[in-house]
Amino acid sequence: MENKVSVLKFGGTSVGSGERIRQVASIIAHAANGAEEHFPIIVVSAMAGVTDQLLKIARHTCTGEHERCEAELRLLRDKHIDAAVQVTCDDERRMKLFVQIEEALTTLAQDVAALCRAAQRNDEVQLHTAAVAGWGERLSVLLVTAAVRDLGVATESVLQEIIITSHPKNDTVQPLGVVVGADPLMEETRINAHALIAPLIERGIVPITVGFIGRTITGYVTTLGRNASDYCATVIGVALGCAEVTIYTDVDGVLTADPRLVKNAQPLSRLSYAEAARLSWFGAKVLHPRTFIPVAPRNIPVRVRNTFNPHVRGTVVGPAARMPSGARAITTRRHLALITVESTDLFGAPENAGQIFALAARADAAPIVICSSSGHHLSFMVEEASADSVVALLQHDMDASTWRVRCRRNLAACACIGSGFNADPTSAAQAINALASEDIPTITQGMSDQAIILIVEDQDAESALRCLHRGLILIATIVPLVRHPTQQEKRREAR
Ligand code: ADP
Ligand code: ASP
Ligand code: MG
Repeated sequence: MENKVSVLKFGGTSVGSGERIRQVASIIAHAANGAEEHFPIIVVSAMAGVTDQLLKIARHTCTGEHERCEAELRLLRDKHIDAAVQVTCDDERRMKLFVQIEEALTTLAQDVAALCRAAQRNDEVQLHTAAVAGWGERLSVLLVTAAVRDLGVATESVLQEIIITSHPKNDTVQPLGVVVGADPLMEETRINAHALIAPLIERGIVPITVGFIGRTITGYVTTLGRNASDYCATVIGVALGCAEVTIYTDVDGVLTADPRLVKNAQPLSRLSYAEAARLSWFGAKVLHPRTFIPVAPRNIPVRVRNTFNPHVRGTVVGPAARMPSGARAITTRRHLALITVESTDLFGAPENAGQIFALAARADAAPIVICSSSGHHLSFMVEEASADSVVALLQHDMDASTWRVRCRRNLAACACIGSGFNADPTSAAQAINALASEDIPTITQGMSDQAIILIVEDQDAESALRCLHRGLILIATIVPLVRHPTQQEKRREAR
């Protein structure tokens, strides 16, 4: 490909109705008509709520609740037909779209039947679940393509999976109707992406393709995990050597906190890859935590913009820039459990850390936060849903006469994300004081140069988020007018 391309990804809320899809189409047409510097490649998510619906269908199929499954399939059809009526004004194009949707739903029904047989045999249920789950994105692609064609833009649906992945591990602990994320294979994806996309770009045709799903080297449909269309956009972008990726969503960019929970959250114009990755790890849904893996080593910027406010330039996530120390955004990750492993002979916890974390990994529970360690204890947070299996493995494998395993549930992590905390004498104290002033106990904490993590009761999570935002973010926008630089900042300035 001679010219650089840019990927525009539209999330589930952006394609949530026929009317919204028309708004998406106008952004695509604008980019295709040369408003943006690079040729656009479009990646779309399923309409909001549709993946949940498909996974419900998968669950009902596996448990033999066929009537509920049929009812859900009818709702799914109605939703897409309603949207199809709105996305195009051209009768012929609308009829063609209806036919495409019916064909897609027929193939979905075949995939549901295949899942039903797989569940009866208890064989490769997760792979067949992924095949069902992927239909939301394909249906979206059909709707968006019709809407863009309506605006006179040459465009083509690419329904084949672009991302090639490893074979996802067969996870027998997972409940029914759940997808596991597979890992993209970059070189295989690059070859596949060029084969599917380059011929279209060379003819000036805008490709519109699926987020969320990929295909294993052995030919099965897989997903990259829930909410992973952002990640798919950067994988596809890197595979095609893109100049930029834009994630279109329903807010003005990455904000200082979730605007649904904090009314006066402010948009951030810039964030580093590390800050954005930490924010999403600690619960900011706006970006999938893996989004930056492919782009960060190549310094490819990721812009976050609002589909419904396209004139706002949004947030650019890129390489770290020099910033004054302090918190830039606050987020909260809920439904966590604190696991403490304590040695009864008051010694040996750090030496056994490897074994403890290996057992947590065997239960598929990555430690969300590692909180504290002393000679005789070690404590870390995992998702509440995995706590039982981690505790069971620890109790089974660690000698009960020497090790006591405890688990405290119903907790949340509040993360103040920023930089320079190690040399900043005030931020950590401000954070704990902010919680204390609202009578919110800090159960434990973890800190690094880029994050202050405070663990609170889950029921306190939202009020903790709001008071940390007030205490660390809003105050910082006023105080710099009167605050004197710290010694560290003075030294940095002098360099
Ligand atoms: P999409 O459908 O576009 O993928 P998501 O629902 O996955 O959108 O993500 C967008 C939502 O993320 C926003 O509506 C907002 O409520 C939520 N969100 C959480 N934290 C933040 C944050 N710090 N900045 C912006 N949005 C956030
Ligand atoms: N549709 C998928 C999901 O809901 C992927 C995404 O929207 O990012 O998980
Ligand atoms: Mg999302």
